[in-house]
Amino acid sequence: MRYPQAIQNLIEYFQKLPSVGPKTAERYVFYLLKKSPETLQGFAQSLAQLKLGTKMCQSCLAISDANPCPICQDDKRNKAILCIVANTQEMLSLEATGKYPGKYFVLGGLVDSLENIGPEQLNVKALIKKIQAEDIKEIILALSPTVEGETTVLYLSKLLKPENIKITRLARGLPLGSSLEYTDEITLIESLKNRSQI
Ligand SMILES: [Zn+2]
Repeated sequence: MRYPQAIQNLIEYFQKLPSVGPKTAERYVFYLLKKSPETLQGFAQSLAQLKLGTKMCQSCLAISDANPCPICQDDKRNKAILCIVANTQEMLSLEATGKYPGKYFVLGGLVDSLENIGPEQLNVKALIKKIQAEDIKEIILALSPTVEGETTVLYLSKLLKPENIKITRLARGLPLGSSLEYTDEITLIESLKNRSQI
């Protein structure tokens, strides 16, 4: 016997999520079946609004509810420092420290040879354009200390060298292989403060 089509459909959608296999997908669906119609309605509405209710900031390429985002709009922030992050989640982790006075740029991922993600899939062209258009004095490469993060740091430091801007990276000492998104604030503050020039 197969599950009713409505259940089967949702199982298939859950299976599209990262690290969700068929058994976990089934468990999610049967868990949701026990919820009230109102809860499910709210869930469905949030999903439907996910794309409609968010914008990409055209200046830093972060996901925000406004374009330009509140950080790019903030004139009190130091425009001369640009912190390059892999994604919006990591940008928000750094922002949560409250210790970074500059602006950000979201790369949209990291160079990953196993997943066939090359620099051309990242927002590298937009980054070069931004650097050439704005008066930036320092670029901080704030990328996770993983193989992908290191490969990307190497690539970007070579690429940006001709721009004649000071390039720094977060201090070593971050746990190797960890993601910045899950690094605690104190460690992040320290690695920002002790950043080193490339
Ligand atoms: Zn922005």
